Amino acid sequence: MSPEQFSHAVLQWYDQHGRHDLPWQQGITPYRVWVSEIMLQQTQVSTVLNYFDRFMQALPTVQALAEAPEDEVLHLWTGLGYYTRARNLQKAAKIVVEQHGGEFPRSVEQLTALPGIGRSTAGAIASISMGIRAPILDGNVKRVLARYTAQAGYPGEPKVANALWANAERFTPYARANHYTQAMMDLGATLCTRSKPSCLICPLKTGCQAHLLGEETRYPEPKPRKTLPQRRTLMPMLANHEGAILLYRRPSSGLWGGLWSLPELDNLEQLDDLAYQHGLRATGSQALDGLTHTFSHFQLAIEPWLVRVDSLGTTVTEPDWLWYNLATPPRLGLAAPVKKLLKRAADELIAGESR
Ligand code: SF4
Repeated sequence: MSPEQFSHAVLQWYDQHGRHDLPWQQGITPYRVWVSEIMLQQTQVSTVLNYFDRFMQALPTVQALAEAPEDEVLHLWTGLGYYTRARNLQKAAKIVVEQHGGEFPRSVEQLTALPGIGRSTAGAIASISMGIRAPILDGNVKRVLARYTAQAGYPGEPKVANALWANAERFTPYARANHYTQAMMDLGATLCTRSKPSCLICPLKTGCQAHLLGEETRYPEPKPRKTLPQRRTLMPMLANHEGAILLYRRPSSGLWGGLWSLPELDNLEQLDDLAYQHGLRATGSQALDGLTHTFSHFQLAIEPWLVRVDSLGTTVTEPDWLWYNLATPPRLGLAAPVKKLLKRAADELIAGESR
């Protein structure tokens, strides 16, 4: 499809099937479009419906918003979440009143200079309320265009975003830019949905690359998973004759801060020293199945060892160390993998007794 055919098909569909009765589509002003766009970020239309009218009744103009106590604005926003949006809304309103005489600036560049207004929101305000030919690329439109062009790559990457913006620009018509913007949002929200697009009734189906390939839900591509750095550690579970395991409390800051954990070693040669420090002697050790724990910034491969120990006769009590009785476990905060390992140790000790 040429850009003209594309926008024509979208507009024709909008005239027949688009949504025309949403509250922010009535009595259109830059202020109303702006507030609705900010509310609709990260929030469903059905939820916003309950908030928009109430907000407009309380604060019907940008001046009213600029002058309202912050508590009042946050109260009207309560339940919508992401409160930075509400604070930015009021900051921007003050700038519009103080620096632009209460009138919204009429260019995408000036609109994006206001707090909380990105390029797509600026495009929506400019096109819907001012009829300016300005592309948008909100989540819905991104999905439609990524599928229509079978755009490879994650849209969060600048190269992919630039390609999508270039297409958004190319397809936006000179006439009826306001309706086209609304139409693309509606198409994404009602037909080209995330998991079950209704391609058979979509006005773009004859040119949609993802549809022609039968791979609609492959686009837009998800954020690539990072391959996390790997670390390895050896965790000895020193078990005494009472079936208790030696644990220590980690420092309050850092990984597993303040939780009870197993000691860690670089290699098995360090085991005797560890035992000796606690007045113990290792009498036998056995490797248990390893496990991998994923932190946000690395993966930890844990090699657990069950180590049976005898006392050397000297009792060494150190703060932040304790014997954790597996039969009558005390109520302590344990690091998640440590909890699993203690269970394995308990199973192994019971199995050992019955052998
Ligand atoms: S044909 Fe299907 S995948 Fe393509 S834009 Fe339409 S609904 Fe989306």
